[in-house]
Amino acid sequence: MQRKVNVVGAGNAGLMAAKTIARYGIDVTIYDQKRKPGYPIRASGIVSANGLSRLGVNCSKALTNSLSGARIHAGNSVLEVKAKAPVAKVLDRGILNEICMGEAASEGASIVVGKRLSAAEIIAMSKNDIIIGADGAVSEVAKAFHMGAVKRYVLTYRVEYNTEPQDIESVDIYLNNSISPGLFSWVCPNGKDVLEVGIGVSSSHGNSKRAFDRFVSHYGITKIISGAKIISEGASIIPIGLRQRIVDDRNQVLLAGDAAGQTKATTGGGIVFGSQGGIMAGEAVADHIIHGSKLSSYESKFRRKNRLDLAMHSMISRAYGSLGEREIGMVISMLNKAGIGKVLGDYGDMDRPTEIIKRFILRRKIVS
Ligand SMILES: Cc1cc2nc3c(=O)[nH]c(=O)nc-3n(C[C@H](O)[C@H](O)[C@H](O)COP(=O)(O)OP(=O)(O)OC[C@H]3O[C@@H](n4cnc5c(N)ncnc54)[C@H](O)[C@@H]3O)c2cc1C
Repeated sequence: MQRKVNVVGAGNAGLMAAKTIARYGIDVTIYDQKRKPGYPIRASGIVSANGLSRLGVNCSKALTNSLSGARIHAGNSVLEVKAKAPVAKVLDRGILNEICMGEAASEGASIVVGKRLSAAEIIAMSKNDIIIGADGAVSEVAKAFHMGAVKRYVLTYRVEYNTEPQDIESVDIYLNNSISPGLFSWVCPNGKDVLEVGIGVSSSHGNSKRAFDRFVSHYGITKIISGAKIISEGASIIPIGLRQRIVDDRNQVLLAGDAAGQTKATTGGGIVFGSQGGIMAGEAVADHIIHGSKLSSYESKFRRKNRLDLAMHSMISRAYGSLGEREIGMVISMLNKAGIGKVLGDYGDMDRPTEIIKRFILRRKIVS
């Protein structure tokens, strides 16, 4: 018998899952509580150029600018990364969502907006249909099916200012565990007349808006944004670390994206990992409906494919978390001298630290 699939959440993960399933001619409906999914924009849109190409989405209309450089500030040191070609893209998240919605719909997925599904409704749906929970960091689906916790949460605050960035090709990252414990702060050009300033702090350290205010005054960002009009601002949350279970075979429930904790522990980036999770969940569901394979193959495949990189992100993040401002500055200065800036500039795929480390070691061997 033909099965139906319900996807909860029309963010990038849910839309990629639905698009993948619809391509097989399977009946799939996506529900989102918002009338206009993707808005208001609460997150930034930096993705590595390599990662973006792996998604298979035509994002050109969402592109605001390209990044070929980064300045990583730590203590008294600044690590400058400058690539010959753009290594990352900045996307307008609202437009990206619209593009992904259009692609899912044109493959035949039905989209129901302005409908928040309660835990009771989701459990009732699961009696007959397969459920994909792509409902973000605070997942109702994960809660309804007791799928365990993610490792930790980061609280964010970001503001977009209407002002011309001094350098449209570079992002500034500030590593300072007394100001942004658990993540970092950033200043990023979002197009030629928009500057985004943001911060992420571990949820155990509390208020992200207070941390944001401390950041802008500590680093003199106040001067850069003085007099600039605020376009948008707000707090949000990022889950860090895969959830304990991302498939419930018995109830036929899968999680993807932030709901599954598919983000990088170093940066909180989840567009590429989460979309990839959505695609893999979609493939597993299609395979299950067409060939009777187990849904749990999704969890093992996702963990296998990303195990090393996720572990590496987690290791780097833990090591960073244990250092004071002066020590981070010393590490950055050492890496600077060892030529990591060049390796990052030449390769620069932030999603794959294993590849960066491999290239760094190879370069050291060639140089010595
Ligand atoms: C400040 C900030 C900056 C970031 N910067 C970057 C970055 O530069 N690069 C990057 O790669 N990642 C970044 N991220 C992470 C990235 O935004 C997320 O990983 C990604 O958006 C997750 O997508 P998703 O589809 O899993 O979830 P979401 O985009 O959160 O979508 C979930 C959807 O589910 C809907 N929903 C929730 N509950 C229900 C319900 N019960 N019923 C119906 N609908 C429901 C919501 O309305 C929402 O539309 C950032 C995040 C933040 C907060």
